[in-house]
Amino acid sequence: ADFVKITTPNGHTYEQPTGLFINNEFLKSHKGETITVEDPSTEQKIAEVQSGAKEDVEYAVECAEKAFNSSWSTGDPRVRARSLLKLADLVEERKELIASIESMDNGKALALARGDVGIVINFLRSAAGYADKLDGRSINTGDGYVNYTIREPVGVCGQIIPWNFPLMMLSWKIAPALAAGNTVILKPASPTPLNALYFASLCKEAGIPAGVVNIIPGPGRGVGETLTTHPKIRKIAFTGSTGTGKGIAVKAAQSNLKKVTLELGGKSAHLVFNDANIEKTLPNLVNGIFLNAGQICSSGSRIYVQEGIYDKLLPAFKKYVEEKITVGSPFDENNFQGAINNKAQFETIMNYVGIAKSEGAKVLTGGEKVNDKGYFIKPTIFYDVEEDMRIVKEEVFGPVVTISKFKEIEDGVAMANDSEFGLGAGIQTENVSTALKVSKMLKAGIVWVNTYNDFDTSVPFGGYKQSGYGREMGIEAFEAYTSVKAVRIKL
Ligand code: NAD
Repeated sequence: ADFVKITTPNGHTYEQPTGLFINNEFLKSHKGETITVEDPSTEQKIAEVQSGAKEDVEYAVECAEKAFNSSWSTGDPRVRARSLLKLADLVEERKELIASIESMDNGKALALARGDVGIVINFLRSAAGYADKLDGRSINTGDGYVNYTIREPVGVCGQIIPWNFPLMMLSWKIAPALAAGNTVILKPASPTPLNALYFASLCKEAGIPAGVVNIIPGPGRGVGETLTTHPKIRKIAFTGSTGTGKGIAVKAAQSNLKKVTLELGGKSAHLVFNDANIEKTLPNLVNGIFLNAGQICSSGSRIYVQEGIYDKLLPAFKKYVEEKITVGSPFDENNFQGAINNKAQFETIMNYVGIAKSEGAKVLTGGEKVNDKGYFIKPTIFYDVEEDMRIVKEEVFGPVVTISKFKEIEDGVAMANDSEFGLGAGIQTENVSTALKVSKMLKAGIVWVNTYNDFDTSVPFGGYKQSGYGREMGIEAFEAYTSVKAVRIKL
């Protein structure tokens, strides 16, 4: 299929692939359907890409299975490592272009997009290092047997990702899967397929064999569901909303009991204790909720402030946000916050702002949209909230945060843990024992102390409770793309 010439708003001209990437070729969809991709900061159309049909997924599974049964999974693992390292080099060479594509497609501030691409490069390199470490254990049962385990790749993996970190999520899925020797079929979210397809062209350039990486944009209920229910797919890795994730777990079980890992929604608590250093805390609160315009699953969207610091923190937070958190074009380097990714999400967020106001939450700052064109929302802080309000309970996935007050450490922890979700949690304190004690008490998959939304590719990330199961990054992600085989030999 075709490539189109695109010039990003900051002047990078490149060839954007628009076809489905299957078996190292860009193809037209069987049904001839397309997705219109728009720039959320201007509401202008950027491109039209192919939208996959069931037949396209079938063909991709065939190719991915063939590739899995080749030396890719059974041969020298250092070949896979070298491919991932080459891929990392290619991404690094084109870092500025790739970050610009990300900002154009997603709406995020360019500086943040550059950070995302940096994580992608690091992670590809980190995953490459795992490829030759598919180690097992030798187990002494003391009875005339030799027992050992080996780790093997799972097979063809289906991967489904959301639109908030289109390239970073893709790397979190693809890199460990490839390092372990699997082959993949990934579906990007419909609003953000551009970097996924561009990355596909880099996979080919890096010499990754045909069929190992396949990228098929298309509808969740079409491509996504075919991946979930396909009898030859052995694992599904999903990042997205909790509702969709539950449906996937059920269908994956019913079809062929494929392995499932789920990275789902959150309503993460960020606790500020009396002894927190306000100056250091403010940027952490901001990164917690206004980074990526709040469209981060681990956003610290419930702030809990201990009563001794509450009256000082609120005005300081308001002033800091109003002065520093500028909203507007992702390509204006002065802006911290870009656009909301798509119209539906923009409307969801504005709807929640309305709900919060009607529930009686007070606005400390924000609560409005910005500009007539593009999906921009002011950083919004609600205070004087009740814990049973919808604005405190439900995930908004936007630049909207609530602030509540607590008295004793235990009260703050109880409020933080009173949620169906358990993805991230934050602690701001100068006291080491408070940090350690509270980290232990919080029911969350990742606890940040004196920082927030701060990712490292060696540190695992994932949820407790209805935020899902399975971990991204770190050795845990790699292991989740393997099966353990035990061998027991009678001597
Ligand atoms: P979503 O669940 O609507 O969509 C996610 C992906 O699933 C998309 O690619 C979509 O096309 C696909 N999909 C939709 N219905 C499907 C179905 N029936 N079968 C298979 N696939 C289907 O979520 P979204 O609106 O794109 O993303 C926002 C959500 O993702 C938020 O709830 C957020 O918290 C969550 N999220 C979680 C993490 C994490 O790591 N835990 C990271 C990012 C986003």
